Amino acid sequence: MVIHRVIRKQSKGIMKYPQSFIEEIKARVRISELIGRAIPLRRAGREFHALCPFHKEKSPSFTINDEKGFFHCFGCGAHGDVIGFTMDYEHIGYREAIEKLASEAGLSVPRETKSEVEREEKTKSLQQVMEVAAAWLEEQLENTGEGELARNYLRERGLTPETRSRFRLGYAPADRDALTRAMRSHGISEAQLIEVGLLIKVEDRAPYSRFRRRLMFPIRDRKSRVIAFGGRVLPGEPNADAPKYLNSPETALFHKGRQLFNLDLARRAAFDARALIVCEGYMDVIALAQAGIQHAVAPLGTAITPEQLQLLWQLVDVPTLCLDGDNAGQRAMARAMDLALPLLVPGKTLGIAILPKGADPDSLIREAGRPAFEGIIRDAQPLAALLWQQVMEQGAATPEARAAQEQTLMQKVEGIKHPTVQHYYKQYVRDRLREAQYQRRTPNARQNGGAWNASSGQKKWNATSGNAAQSSPVPPPPITRSSDMSLLTPASNLLALVVAHPGLLAEASAEEFWLHAPMPASWQQQLHHLITELHIDAQGISSVELMHSLAEEIAAEPINQMTQAMVALGVDLSKDEMVRTGRAERLWGEVVNDVERARVKVECAEAEAILAAELNDEKFARWMALKAQLEAIDRERSRFYREDPLIDATTHG
Ligand SMILES: [Zn+2]
Repeated sequence: MVIHRVIRKQSKGIMKYPQSFIEEIKARVRISELIGRAIPLRRAGREFHALCPFHKEKSPSFTINDEKGFFHCFGCGAHGDVIGFTMDYEHIGYREAIEKLASEAGLSVPRETKSEVEREEKTKSLQQVMEVAAAWLEEQLENTGEGELARNYLRERGLTPETRSRFRLGYAPADRDALTRAMRSHGISEAQLIEVGLLIKVEDRAPYSRFRRRLMFPIRDRKSRVIAFGGRVLPGEPNADAPKYLNSPETALFHKGRQLFNLDLARRAAFDARALIVCEGYMDVIALAQAGIQHAVAPLGTAITPEQLQLLWQLVDVPTLCLDGDNAGQRAMARAMDLALPLLVPGKTLGIAILPKGADPDSLIREAGRPAFEGIIRDAQPLAALLWQQVMEQGAATPEARAAQEQTLMQKVEGIKHPTVQHYYKQYVRDRLREAQYQRRTPNARQNGGAWNASSGQKKWNATSGNAAQSSPVPPPPITRSSDMSLLTPASNLLALVVAHPGLLAEASAEEFWLHAPMPASWQQQLHHLITELHIDAQGISSVELMHSLAEEIAAEPINQMTQAMVALGVDLSKDEMVRTGRAERLWGEVVNDVERARVKVECAEAEAILAAELNDEKFARWMALKAQLEAIDRERSRFYREDPLIDATTHG
């Protein structure tokens, strides 16, 4: 360990990268994710704990803090950020670590040049310009007669003086030269003001203020430095054509697609709440903060961009988009889905909460209070369910129209780039199609005129209802699994179960089972090895011991996925809660059923192909036997789903 740290220090001086680049790397790579790929982690409140990878220990003294972006070992004193960890863990130098992290974060490594240094210095001076301007605009709001109009507006919206100063709200006066004059006394030139977007220069006319008679919202970067402004018109604006909101243009400081309003203040709250709300407007974010909901951000006057989505995913796995119930909100939802689908990766998705028509978070909080708003956020729908609703529940009068809907849906699903996520979306869609077909066949659905409409007689599917079985007298055929579960790989679910309930190892130790378990061959071998050659007494081993053995035997990535699966399944090792409630056994039954089903299905298809090639009694009998077996498995499967939903997906928050 000591040796590593010496190496780290020595190599630091070799090459200097721009500070902004280093910051960008740290902002993009979540330290718990990076370390979680290398060693198993356990969440402990705001931090993660693990066995230290840099010294030998029996109980975890290695902690990781995402918010602060560092790790620390209380045992051996190892300490550092994402770069330090990469260097120490992989035994590589500073430069190599930077290159590795940059490629992971999708950044290209800049070359240290003179112009780069100059650019950084210029950026620093532009930041100072923005700071002085922000302070002056605040002063105009709080202490001038003209600012009265804006102060009144804010009072009517229920904003307290504390909230005003927390968000550093300001007022831009009507005088188009006032800012220039005031800034000149601080030694700030017109050229600088043009560069930060506060002045507009058109050809040979004198430059003038971009923002006039507007309430000013400073837009801050991650380090709370003002980098841009949003300006809102005030009631009674004489120019009827003035846009309601006006933002700073793109500048050297401000790239609106890569920033989010309030990201700096929301970060900590998002880590604490393990939730993040994405609103449409600045006033929404501010109203929520005043009501005590600090973990809200907003995009900057445009639809969410891929970069912004990545920023959100660095903070939480399932950010919640909060959209209006009107047509614009519907369009925003469609856009957000199209944006998010291709980018989905295991564990990361979006929740979408729809507000009542005509309400926004600001008005809702004021009129109905915080609990009403929180209820709407709790009811946020998972992306998969919304995709289904949006495409398939539009009503289709003919089989052809229904087929077209199905085609559209599959095209969207095929847009998902991550193969595992795509696989589970396809499974989800197939399951829903089967469910919808079943419902058309029931008398209830026929009363609805037998329309080709999946929603007829169907209960709204959402994250808290588990499966849709309860609504019809006869349970529908197998299906709809909890969204949380289906987004993870079966392999990690299996591992999570085995760890939660080591006794299962003895139960299912038949080699046959592990041969067909849906996991990579290497894991199968390792598990088999654990069970047979190490002679693990499955009844005697504790979950924690087993997890550590597995961590030694199996590579880091599956273990990381397994930990995610455990969180999604609500596995609580310390309390052994799953064992106590008997959930593990039932879930295990389901998983075994899944495995069996996959195996028999393949065999059945093979038998069918053989039969097609050569028709004889013996081959026909084999095919029929396999079909019967498959049906029996399906019957058992639907029995699982008839019982109460196993996983009430209330693990989101
Ligand atoms: Zn240590």
